[in-house]
Amino acid sequence: MRVVTDRRLRATAAFFLLVIAFCPSIKAQSAAPHADRIFVNGNIWTGDDAHPRAEAIAVLGDKLMAVGTNLQIRALASSETGIVDLKGRFVAPGFQDSHLHFPGPSVNSVRLDGIETLDAFQKRLSEFAKSHEKLSWITGGGWGYSAFPNQTVDKKYVDAVVSDRPVYVSERDGHMGLANSKALLIAGITRDTPDPPNGHIMKDANGEPTGELKEAAQELMYSKIPPPTEDETYQTLLKHMDEAAADGLTSVQNATWSPADHAVYVRALAANALKLRFRFAPPILPADGGAPAHHNLQKPLTLDDLKEYKRLRDTFRGPLMKFGSIKGFLDGTVDARTAAMSEPYVGGGTGIPFWEQDDLNKTVALYDKEGFQVMLHAIGDKAINMALNAFEYAAKTNGTTGRRHRIEHVEVPLLADLPRFKQLGVIASTQALFASPDSTVLQNFAVLLGPERAAHADSFKIFDDAGAVQVFGSDWSVFDFSPLKGMYAAVTRMTPEGTPPGGWYPAGRISIEAALRHYTRDGAYASFDEDIRGTLTAGKLADFVVLSKDLLTIPPTDILKTKVLLTVMGGKETYRDKEFQ
Ligand SMILES: [Zn+2]
Repeated sequence: MRVVTDRRLRATAAFFLLVIAFCPSIKAQSAAPHADRIFVNGNIWTGDDAHPRAEAIAVLGDKLMAVGTNLQIRALASSETGIVDLKGRFVAPGFQDSHLHFPGPSVNSVRLDGIETLDAFQKRLSEFAKSHEKLSWITGGGWGYSAFPNQTVDKKYVDAVVSDRPVYVSERDGHMGLANSKALLIAGITRDTPDPPNGHIMKDANGEPTGELKEAAQELMYSKIPPPTEDETYQTLLKHMDEAAADGLTSVQNATWSPADHAVYVRALAANALKLRFRFAPPILPADGGAPAHHNLQKPLTLDDLKEYKRLRDTFRGPLMKFGSIKGFLDGTVDARTAAMSEPYVGGGTGIPFWEQDDLNKTVALYDKEGFQVMLHAIGDKAINMALNAFEYAAKTNGTTGRRHRIEHVEVPLLADLPRFKQLGVIASTQALFASPDSTVLQNFAVLLGPERAAHADSFKIFDDAGAVQVFGSDWSVFDFSPLKGMYAAVTRMTPEGTPPGGWYPAGRISIEAALRHYTRDGAYASFDEDIRGTLTAGKLADFVVLSKDLLTIPPTDILKTKVLLTVMGGKETYRDKEFQ
């Protein structure tokens, strides 16, 4: 008997030693940790295939402590735990926008988006000028030609409301802008000023500049406009982060980075003011240290920049600020006929790729070898094909796998290239709202492509069917970053007004669940974050949204009637709608 007791004692002692060894805080064992906050009675889509649906969430610190049934989660609450009753509302992982451009339009700029008439244009401009009397320049943009008589812009429309200060406002795509007389005077633009290379100074029948400047001619104006102060950019960042949180976004991949803006993000990080998780993509630099013919950059980059990119990658490792990708351009856009196509546009021209294949291969291989994820803007089928070739070359040359290189926009691929995305592990980074068939898409984009290519342009279904990883983004600030608006476009391929009925090339429509994946877990995969976020899984970051409607059961037309009620990032509320209580 004694022996047995002794054995029992020894076994018990050994057990406690084990507990102590594996649990540094033995006290925590006696009082199990409780949740900071629990969210119960929810209708939760987790995005996690192992447990796709749940009722409740427990949050501890910045993480999901548990995801499960009401009973399981309530068991984790103590008297100090905050309890939120979701009242049956729909919950999804926080949305990720995988391609946009923070910090976005300045807080001190006038927004002219969506304006339909000259009256409204002038009213907005004059009100902005009156409410911003200290600004030495009035800048901003977002206007479209349809707001002006005969679709023709002229400085006189601006002079009539603001003449004491210079005004320069850009058109919505940013390819042109409109100045008033004062701005033309400051920029020294007269009837005698010649067009700069790749730009046009528009002039009337009498040879007088009209105030409209196209493409590179805009530089004449931009060189005179004082750059924003750091504080202005900081306020701009804060403002747009608030808007993004109100749209349910918790993570973004910024297709832009500049040293000037960097300081502002670091300041926000230090102030604990970031409301989004950022992953930045600085611009690509060519392997030979020179610059390609068209690189969309002001200065040629040097190999020192590569060192700097590596330093940034080592310094900012997340989860709020991260580096690790770089971004380059292979072509322009279909609307400007600068997207590089293998066959001519209807009406002529094929666009010209910005790179030679050999230079591109060498450059991509350099970054691939250094462990970077390469993001290439490629819209035309020729450019997309070149991007795939370069990724294939890099993998073969370096013997690398798993770099998750990406093609941005990827609007008009060759159907024969689709299987290569999965084969090469290349991510299709598409913009859901590009499939919204507005007048530009129907009357310009689709016409230039012709029916054969238009039928699969911005078709998100073809990438899903090809087994590729597809991520959704907005390309904000050119387009709205609202994921709900993007989901509506991807699922219906109709305008918000419901045209055309049944959708534009409806074969390209995808399910709402697929759209949700592209805005959540696929995005996390594209930024190498699938282990820490993207699904509502215990142990991952507590990033989620509460919506007013169940996206999985409502008719697709109701997606636009759905509201974001609550956004939580890292366990903290970044947005709460007044309707949520
Ligand atoms: Zn972009």
